[in-house]
Amino acid sequence: MSESERKNFLGSGNDPFICENCGADIAPLSGSFRNHCPECLWSLHVDIVPGDRKNPCRGLMEPIRVEGAEGSGWYVVHRCVECGEESRNHCALTAEVQPDSWEVLIEISRSSPPPKG
Ligand SMILES: [Zn+2]
Ligand SMILES: [Zn+2]
Repeated sequence: MSESERKNFLGSGNDPFICENCGADIAPLSGSFRNHCPECLWSLHVDIVPGDRKNPCRGLMEPIRVEGAEGSGWYVVHRCVECGEESRNHCALTAEVQPDSWEVLIEISRSSPPPKG
């Protein structure tokens, strides 16, 4: 990936937005881009490559389970309510502005079935 492509990649998709699930006003994340609401952790199916906002689906994506561990970082797995596609997203629990809700993350991990095997 060239320097200009990289800039483009990181620069797109990091705008303030309003969550379509809970209506929260979301500020952009510095140093990275948000792909889910920090308040309810729902996402929107807008990316093909993370951050590109080129997916025409635009369905709401429900947080269905939590993966990861203390130390290695936490991921929330989203499933699109429109097309069923799943994607795994790193949580921004330590963001300076509007970090992801730890309480909601715990709720999701409690309600999701334990991993098989
Ligand atoms: Zn929300
Ligand atoms: Zn979708």
